[in-house]
Amino acid sequence: MQIKTYLQQLQKLVPSILLERMQYIHSSLLTHWILLQGSQQLTFNQKSAMVFSPHQDDETFGCGGMIAYKREQGIPVIVVFLTNGQGSRDIDTESRNKIIQTRKQEAIHALNILGVDTSAIHFLEKADGHLQTLKPEEKQEAIAQITELFKHYQPEEVYVPHRKDCHRDHEATYHLVKAAIKQAEIKVELLQYPIWLFWRAPLFIMLKLSDIAAAYSFSITSVQDKKNQAIATYTSQLESLPPGFVKRFLGAYEIFFKV
Ligand SMILES: [Zn+2]
Repeated sequence: MQIKTYLQQLQKLVPSILLERMQYIHSSLLTHWILLQGSQQLTFNQKSAMVFSPHQDDETFGCGGMIAYKREQGIPVIVVFLTNGQGSRDIDTESRNKIIQTRKQEAIHALNILGVDTSAIHFLEKADGHLQTLKPEEKQEAIAQITELFKHYQPEEVYVPHRKDCHRDHEATYHLVKAAIKQAEIKVELLQYPIWLFWRAPLFIMLKLSDIAAAYSFSITSVQDKKNQAIATYTSQLESLPPGFVKRFLGAYEIFFKV
């Protein structure tokens, strides 16, 4: 069954508050299981990094600790946002531009807290919600923009949302970045960060054992306060996201999947 159909059916059967509770329990159990049993420890390295984020908040939720850790050591970290974060609501141009500006400011503020300079932040400003349905020429343009960034910065590590992250823009980000790595002909280590994966997916149906075997946990205790402060700057998002969903990202570990 398609994940979307599965979720739609579940939403029809279960009241939203109960569904959110179920998702929270599911997500917490999986996180604990992966941290305790299903993952290896990721050892910190000095590699320069480029983080790709579909929306203004994913980078902080998924790898805010890693970003802060690297920046404290003076390691270059570049952050690239794929969409403008306008949301999917049908609103007038003025309100839309206001949302885009707010999210941009929140992202800059959050990343400054994590130690990333404003000059190291790039906004590609694609339409939110449409990364998977770009026209062929738009897709080529996006890949070319990312390729340029790779050639310019030559990162040694690249962070992307998980390829099965249960969100169209997130999965599309993974594929656009993969295509650009090929086009730029650079050798990088690719690490996937889960955002919606544990929340939306019936995980054991979605992930093969070989996927789970690629899970790594990274302790962020020493920079946890910074990460939580950075998350708190995303006020426009925190209002609408389920509190249980946000809670997972306030913990002392981050989870990454190697490719
Ligand atoms: Zn997102």
